[in-house]
Amino acid sequence: MKNIVILGSGSGGTMVATLLRRQLDEKEWKITIIDRDWQHHYQPGWLFIPFGIYSAADCIKPKSDFIPNGVDFVLDEVTGIDPKQRVIKAKQGVYNYDWLVIATGCRIMPDEIDGMMEDWRNNICDFYSLEGAVALQKKMKYLLLQQSNRQKLQEMRLLKPETRQGSIYIYSMGKN
Ligand SMILES: Cc1cc2nc3c(=O)[nH]c(=O)nc-3n(C[C@H](O)[C@H](O)[C@H](O)COP(=O)(O)OP(=O)(O)OC[C@H]3O[C@@H](n4cnc5c(N)ncnc54)[C@H](O)[C@@H]3O)c2cc1C
Repeated sequence: MKNIVILGSGSGGTMVATLLRRQLDEKEWKITIIDRDWQHHYQPGWLFIPFGIYSAADCIKPKSDFIPNGVDFVLDEVTGIDPKQRVIKAKQGVYNYDWLVIATGCRIMPDEIDGMMEDWRNNICDFYSLEGAVALQKKMKYLLLQQSNRQKLQEMRLLKPETRQGSIYIYSMGKN
């Protein structure tokens, strides 16, 4: 029995597992995916979080929904690979392989850009991570609220008060 191990079950690793499982005889080929996260993140959905169209929960599904039949899923964090011995080292154990597919994705490195971290996730926001998209949504909510308050104040200055109670002026919003 030959042993294929795929590191990472994001879109890439899951597609490789699905396509290989269709092609390779289960009696001859064992396929295992190792991932440190049981949650699948629908990354294009992160773009919609800042605008309140999706929530963080909308973009998360259990990976088990996508792992094809006939593929083993192991929840573990890979720490190293020994290509000579064909062994993967992980926090919970070691795993042998005959063929290895590495599909561990990528991550943003804002700290490699001078000055970026000084205002990171405050006035400098990203939507290329779940945390970034959630932070940007909060920021946009705040900015929109500020903008609408400013607009209301401007409108109030243009409006004449309807009534006055002592030093308090009562305005009716939404009227021209
Ligand atoms: C905002 C946004 C919009 C996008 N829009 C589009 C689009 O319109 N069209 C399009 O085609 N693509 C789009 N993309 C890109 C697409 O989502 C990614 O290219 C794709 O999800 C990457 O898949 P992946 O499997 O390579 O990596 P990932 O999905 O990141 O998967 C990597 C996996 O490896 C695991 N892993 C990493 N390190 C370890 C370790 N040491 N041990 C164990 N497991 C580990 C992680 O837990 C993860 O599950 C978008 C991305 C973003 C962020």
